[in-house]
Amino acid sequence: MSELNHEQLEKYERQIFDLRQLIEISKGLNSTLEYNMLIESILLTCMGQMQLIKAGIFLKKGIDEDAYILHRNYKGFDIDHDTDYEILGASPIIDLFENHDRCWTLEEIKVEVDDRLSCLECLKKINPSLVVPLKSRGKMNGIIILGERINQLDFCEEEKLYLLDIASLAGIAIENAYLYELATTDMMTKLKIHHFFQRLLIEEREKAKKRKKPLILMMLDIDHFKDFNDKYGHLCGDLVLKNVANVIKNNCRQIDIAARYGGEEMAIILPKTDIEAGIIAAERLRRGIEHAVVEHEGKRLSVKVSIGLTQLREEDVTNDDIIGRADRALYMSKENGRNMVSYIL
Ligand code: GH3
Ligand code: MG
Ligand code: MG
Repeated sequence: MSELNHEQLEKYERQIFDLRQLIEISKGLNSTLEYNMLIESILLTCMGQMQLIKAGIFLKKGIDEDAYILHRNYKGFDIDHDTDYEILGASPIIDLFENHDRCWTLEEIKVEVDDRLSCLECLKKINPSLVVPLKSRGKMNGIIILGERINQLDFCEEEKLYLLDIASLAGIAIENAYLYELATTDMMTKLKIHHFFQRLLIEEREKAKKRKKPLILMMLDIDHFKDFNDKYGHLCGDLVLKNVANVIKNNCRQIDIAARYGGEEMAIILPKTDIEAGIIAAERLRRGIEHAVVEHEGKRLSVKVSIGLTQLREEDVTNDDIIGRADRALYMSKENGRNMVSYIL
């Protein structure tokens, strides 16, 4: 058997190194199902591996939407905050990406699709040095955009292939995170579903006890909700539900967990929050819902909610202990005239 020459040896060593790196990247990307952490991990991986100063990612706008928007975690790009960086799912660019397994420079994309197309505008504004489509099972699910490199060099073919390997791992990780989101989200309100809420409540109770931090559970029920259904039909009831859920989402911090407990009842977990801060948050939410403009067939609807809240106690051992107390506080609000906040310490 002939011996490997120095050059071949170096090549194989580099390949082994690259494969090891890919295994590490794969482990990293598969260790989280949480979108923001995953995006951060994908971008930092690309930047670290390719010595980049700019990177970003386009992802589906929402779990039931086709358009892609630039995720807010982009790094280094000079982004105009008044511009919507959006690529429609049905655009020729997406077709192009879906039909070829490769990376693209902006010039290469312009050769393939009409330069005047609006779907190109947003990429032109960003002016990436390389565009890497993300796919899972042949379907697009994201687009990585890379900026200049620290060494100012163009990407060589080997590096582009390596980036495609990273992209295929990232595409699968994004698909997993997406399916997880889909399986745990109530599609009407886009809040968490009941059984997922129960699981998160166990986790959050444990965290709070371990870290000796307070925790608030809020239960919220729409007042006289049945009247919307009875007077204007179920579509109107659905509209009211979606609006209440939107106000809740807009009022929550990133660490808060808002769920559809059932029907027109919502539950919100507020970690690291004591009863004083919880009451302020609940009152702000109640007022926010009361003042939000909800219109059905040209008529403004008056939507109000009752809220009950309680703080986690040392002696709480099951979810039902704290849920039962928040529920009793909610009933106090209902009994005392609705559209109000009550609490049990
Ligand atoms: P209260 O002020 O005491 O809470 O009165 P309410 O009318 O809000 O409460 P009730 O429990 O009598 O009615 C809740 C209604 O919510 C009954 C149910 O048909 C309706 N509902 C539950 N889920 C949905 C949904 O997804 N869409 C619509 N449109 N209605 C729903
Ligand atoms: Mg109700
Ligand atoms: Mg109810």
